[in-house]
Amino acid sequence: MSTEPLRIWWNKNLHGKISPGKLAAHAAHAALRAYGIEYDHPIVVLAAGRGRIESMPITVRDEGRTELEPGTLTAGVERSWQASRPVTDAEVEAAARALNVEGWTCNGGEDEPGNYDSCPDCKRVCDPLARVALEAARTTRGADNADR
Ligand SMILES: [Zn+2]
Repeated sequence: MSTEPLRIWWNKNLHGKISPGKLAAHAAHAALRAYGIEYDHPIVVLAAGRGRIESMPITVRDEGRTELEPGTLTAGVERSWQASRPVTDAEVEAAARALNVEGWTCNGGEDEPGNYDSCPDCKRVCDPLARVALEAARTTRGADNADR
């Protein structure tokens, strides 16, 4: 990944005409699109106290290179789209195949690894494991994401 910052430009003609919340929401839309995420769900940016934001599963802290002290809590999201999105069958299959290659096989691990596509029993062993692991990862994730 490039170390260049993602630069988002806002229309300076709107200075004094647009609230910080609306401007932040549009900047968030721009950032998502910059990373190829076409996400047309509305984004609403609201003000809250530090304590409330600290309790959120996704938080953003400033690195302190420009305007703020390092680690200043700037924003949070109450609910992760990733965490609330159901795990897809394609994700389960990819993870199950990886588990199988790592030795999760049928017959209590007696089958050779890598037979996911040819052995239905290996698939039966790995698919539920992969689904449980992916769902567990979704619900336990939530570390701070410093801005870069
Ligand atoms: Zn097998």
